[in-house]
Amino acid sequence: MFEPISIKEYVELFVRDNPSEKKQVVEERLRDILHAALSGTKCACGNPIWVIGAAEVGLSCFTCITGGTMPEEDFEIEEHLNYLQKLT
Ligand SMILES: [Zn+2]
Repeated sequence: MFEPISIKEYVELFVRDNPSEKKQVVEERLRDILHAALSGTKCACGNPIWVIGAAEVGLSCFTCITGGTMPEEDFEIEEHLNYLQKLT
């Protein structure tokens, strides 16, 4: 399962690990992907996209991005998780 995180919190973590990145740019990139995800955009394989990974490598799901089958302590934006929960 994913660990829910807010965009603000994730941006803070991300720029701590990537000091050359600007917060505003990182946040805008995440919001663009989140908007696509909340509009029903899916990975080419049909799974929901992984917003955090997709911000780095394009609109794909966790499995396609990492090659792993299940997230373990990986973050995902909470708004997206809430949206997916409502669909089921
Ligand atoms: Zn996929």
